[in-house]
Amino acid sequence: MKVLVINAGSSSLKYQVYDMTDESVLAKGLVERIGMDSSILTHKPTGKEEVTEVSEILEHTTAIRKVLDKLVHAEHGVLSSIEEIQAVGHRVVHGGEFFNGSALVTDEVKAKIRQLIDLAPLHNPAAIMGINAAEANMPGVPQVVVFDTAFHQTMPESAYLYAIPRVLYNKYKVRRYGAHGTSHYYVSQIAAEFLERPIEDLKIITCHVGNGGSLTAIQNGVSVDTSMGMTPLEGLMMGTRSGDLDPAIVPYVMNKEDLTLNEVNSMLNKHSGLLAISGISSDMREITEGMENGDPNSTLAFNMYEYRLRKYIGSYAAAMNGVDVIVFTAGVGENSVVLRQRVLEQLTYLGVELDEELNKIRSGEPRRISTANSKVEVLIIPTNEELVIARDTNRIVEESK
Ligand code: ADP
Repeated sequence: MKVLVINAGSSSLKYQVYDMTDESVLAKGLVERIGMDSSILTHKPTGKEEVTEVSEILEHTTAIRKVLDKLVHAEHGVLSSIEEIQAVGHRVVHGGEFFNGSALVTDEVKAKIRQLIDLAPLHNPAAIMGINAAEANMPGVPQVVVFDTAFHQTMPESAYLYAIPRVLYNKYKVRRYGAHGTSHYYVSQIAAEFLERPIEDLKIITCHVGNGGSLTAIQNGVSVDTSMGMTPLEGLMMGTRSGDLDPAIVPYVMNKEDLTLNEVNSMLNKHSGLLAISGISSDMREITEGMENGDPNSTLAFNMYEYRLRKYIGSYAAAMNGVDVIVFTAGVGENSVVLRQRVLEQLTYLGVELDEELNKIRSGEPRRISTANSKVEVLIIPTNEELVIARDTNRIVEESK
């Protein structure tokens, strides 16, 4: 089966085409600036040259049509006809309490995703646009939705409830949902495979640190706690997000600065984190460069980021009464030698022993960076959320036949 994987944002759309017979990627690409005057389509067919096209793409239906045109293009294409695509898989950020796994798209499923717009106002509307656009372009082709929150639905009440009046949960489902679930699930599975141990025997802490970041405590193969909350703002310090803070700061600052709800939301989501503290960038590469050049604000930003990450690892070791495996993944986790070193050299109390040479190797493959004596296995595992979406889509469509 050939599967088209779609990750729709409000003004962007990422795609990959998988041949599930060998899980190979036939093509991938990105449409940016949808709804703006010069939209950019970047198409990367495997084994052929990358193409970039600038045009006016006003909405997602046109974006998908242009992508499909490229997929069957005489020169840049990878398919002989669109009918070869037998299923479409969509990434959806919020599945609330409705979904603890992936689902075949039906009117009822779409209605539930719509109901959750309140909890993910930036993300779920884009997912709906992506689903509708795929349906319009490929009528009759089954579609599957894969949720960022689904993996965390196993968290116990004691981990997912906030200590606020219960009525807020009962009425509005205010609780922790987490995010990056597809990634945490994938890297924990690969970790167990890599170590040739049953996942049920392992206490795993997965650190997905990229632009956004979250940690998950995984026991018996399921998520028992995760650092993101009702929204992806809670938890670690991130590129532009504050992560944890005293909630009393919000009304205090709103009052002092006469801020609206939207303004304070934007401050915490878009103008905080590494960007706010460094004053230069939300990008960890630039922060690291600043630190190496002696810039005090970049150094402080790095130190805060590292400190908070390390504290979360400690708290999840406490949550599970120990840890067997720590996994680093995503942009920062896979690439930042210095961040991993700084975090891990302060975890000796857990029995972590880092092999500094192994930590410096770049391979793009799962690998161990702890020593043979380390009580905790420390692994780097490149994440692959698209592959999980393609696999779930393939499985669910096959099961529905
Ligand atoms: P997203 O959360 O948007 O999916 P990624 O997982 O791609 O993001 O991570 C992006 C982050 O990874 C950026 O902050 C970038 O600076 C960081 N990153 C990429 N390469 C490196 C590197 N060599 N050293 C440090 N950080 C890096």
